[in-house]
Amino acid sequence: MTARVGIPRALFYYTYFPMWQAFLEKLGVEVVFSRPTNKEILEAGIRETVNDACIPIKLFHGHVLDLKDRVDYLLIPRLVSPGGYITYCPKFLGLPDMIRFSGMKLPALISHRLSLRGLPGGLSRFLRATALSLGIKNPLAQQKAISHALKCHKLYHRLLLEGKQPLEASTLIQKKGRAGRNAALVTAAEAGTGMPRVALLGYPYTIYDSFVSADVYHKLQSMGVSVITPDQISPQELRRMSRVLPQNLFWYYSNRVWWAGLSLLQRKAVDGMIHLTAFACGPDAMVDKLLELEAKKARMPFLTLTIDEHTGEGGVQTRLEAFIDMLQAKIENNRNGV
Ligand code: SF4
Repeated sequence: MTARVGIPRALFYYTYFPMWQAFLEKLGVEVVFSRPTNKEILEAGIRETVNDACIPIKLFHGHVLDLKDRVDYLLIPRLVSPGGYITYCPKFLGLPDMIRFSGMKLPALISHRLSLRGLPGGLSRFLRATALSLGIKNPLAQQKAISHALKCHKLYHRLLLEGKQPLEASTLIQKKGRAGRNAALVTAAEAGTGMPRVALLGYPYTIYDSFVSADVYHKLQSMGVSVITPDQISPQELRRMSRVLPQNLFWYYSNRVWWAGLSLLQRKAVDGMIHLTAFACGPDAMVDKLLELEAKKARMPFLTLTIDEHTGEGGVQTRLEAFIDMLQAKIENNRNGV
């Protein structure tokens, strides 16, 4: 019988799922994702987690509950480092243990360490270890699946850079399609719409989860706003920003948000910034303050939206509308030399 491997649709899912899916399917394994976040998943996660956990960790528990009785294995890697001195937030490092000891009745966990620090080939080593956990020992089959998965990973991130959303990018990869120019970077000025360009800064697992984020991304788009996320800033530009600062943060996703924000401020590439921050996130407390101070120095309109389990659609919509109205008025005033 084909093994079924479950991948929770939360946290690192948004960075790695096309690669894992491509790898496992190439090995003949069935991949099962948890359902997109909904009220039931969120409430189940809240019940299962300690009170002071951040909302994305609560949500992760909810996604595990959604999957656990439908699969033979759960893929919950221990993400350590994307390279260099930077690490993932400590919650990622301890995630497999947090889930293992949560008291839930679970299928087998595949929780190998994923670290790109030190010797090259960290992704391949992780994938090979995953295949072995599934009892797949044929080195040729492993190698073919690894090559295919790494190609998909590269293409996925190129599509995100071009402005695609994760699911859209994954569908394009499966259709072997190619994206065109980044729609968000066709600026409002070029398009002549007079609508603002807005940076939506935050972690991929908050920005792209339409339920927990109150769908801020699409709300902005439906107002005619060009939305730019940290995924649309090139790795070269992020590296450049990492060198201009006297001190960086330690955590991968926090640094990406911080560097992306600074780069957009420096290049005056947007008309306003929204920081989507997760309630009870330690690193975000620092990132939000740093961004707010830099935006103030650059006289850039800045809005912080904190998401938690009580985030209401109506409240978010009202705040977004007020912010966009203010940006439009500012653009209009600048145009008229006021
Ligand atoms: S970075 Fe913040 S939101 Fe993300 S897992 Fe860590 S504490 Fe939670």
